[in-house]
Amino acid sequence: MVSKVVFGRGSINQIDDIIRPKRLNERAPFVFIIDAFFQNQSTLTSKFSLLYDDYIIYVSADEEPKTSQVDALVESIILNTKDLPSGIIGIGGGTIMDIAKAVSIMLTNTGSSEDYQGWDLVKNPGVYSVGVPTISGTGAEVSRTAVLSGSKLKLGLNSDYTPFNQVILDPELTESVTKDQWFFTGMDCFIHCVESLNGHFINTFSESYGTMAYALCKDIFLGDLSDDDKQNKLMMASWHGGMSIAYSQVGVAHALSYGLSFVLGVKHGLGNCIVFNHLDEFYPNDVALFREMIVKNDINLPKHICEDVTDSQMETMIDTALSLEPLWENALGNEWKTQISRQKIERLFRKM
Ligand code: NAD
Ligand code: ZN
Repeated sequence: MVSKVVFGRGSINQIDDIIRPKRLNERAPFVFIIDAFFQNQSTLTSKFSLLYDDYIIYVSADEEPKTSQVDALVESIILNTKDLPSGIIGIGGGTIMDIAKAVSIMLTNTGSSEDYQGWDLVKNPGVYSVGVPTISGTGAEVSRTAVLSGSKLKLGLNSDYTPFNQVILDPELTESVTKDQWFFTGMDCFIHCVESLNGHFINTFSESYGTMAYALCKDIFLGDLSDDDKQNKLMMASWHGGMSIAYSQVGVAHALSYGLSFVLGVKHGLGNCIVFNHLDEFYPNDVALFREMIVKNDINLPKHICEDVTDSQMETMIDTALSLEPLWENALGNEWKTQISRQKIERLFRKM
């Protein structure tokens, strides 16, 4: 679990005070990994000070993070700093949260980040890390995984060393998110709750967080809240949704969505929405609710995205989805292989 967290509109202003005691020495900088969306916007950089050798790396979130990208960032940090950094501060959406977590781990673990895709493979604690989310929904700010695409698959670095040491939850930072992006990333949270609450791994810990986040999502996407309230509540829903899956698992939507993003590069939140819209068989009531949310918020979902997918791409999409065994087991139980075939998955993909 994340050991320290602050919440509140404007709480980003506390960042200098929060990280100051963590500076190891003058040669060990804080490295800020920030979403390139904020480049040239002094509104964000005016909130913190760069001291000694501290520096910023702007990273584009146009594509989902890759193991090769994390390895290159780690190499550049090692080459540019005299000592191991005092800390990695990630500021951005789920993409930047995952990159920052992975970089922090890879600064203290040898080899490529690809070697650590899986469950509990990370051997050493990473350097001190701080997550500052600027979009709400993924729960990446709280989860024990950093999801990366490698040369073979999209799979997280799931470990006890992956969570941030400190998180700053400032809903004001999400004010500039576009409506579509707000919806797609927000639906990631809704779908986390649906998959956790309806899964076989459900337990009281996950259920209590999942129920809370699910109720917040209904308020946010179907109620009539002010913008501030929507931002505040979605930030907490994201946190609770992330906590809910930390102690259980996601399900069918995520397994298929990973296939879409690995082969077609469809971003996670959007991919989840495209997939979820076709999962009446697995989550009938929640798919109906999801469609109400689409209408209420006037969202257009892309259609026919698998129309031009070649046979070999389809095979890779199916392989990616099927490789995520814990997700299927959570969704359908131990005997999931009797219910799911390659043909069935292909039929679902072809409908999208
Ligand atoms: P994102 O980080 O990919 O960003 C989406 C877009 O929003 C980008 O263009 C970005 O520049 C922009 N953006 C970010 N903050 C903004 C702001 N305040 N104002 C305006 N624009 C802003 O989006 P996301 O949906 O948060 O993250 C998706 C990623 O999260 C995927 O890579 C997915 O694999 C990962 N993920 C991780 C976990 C986990 O537990 N680790 C869980 C779910 C998803
Ligand atoms: Zn997700």
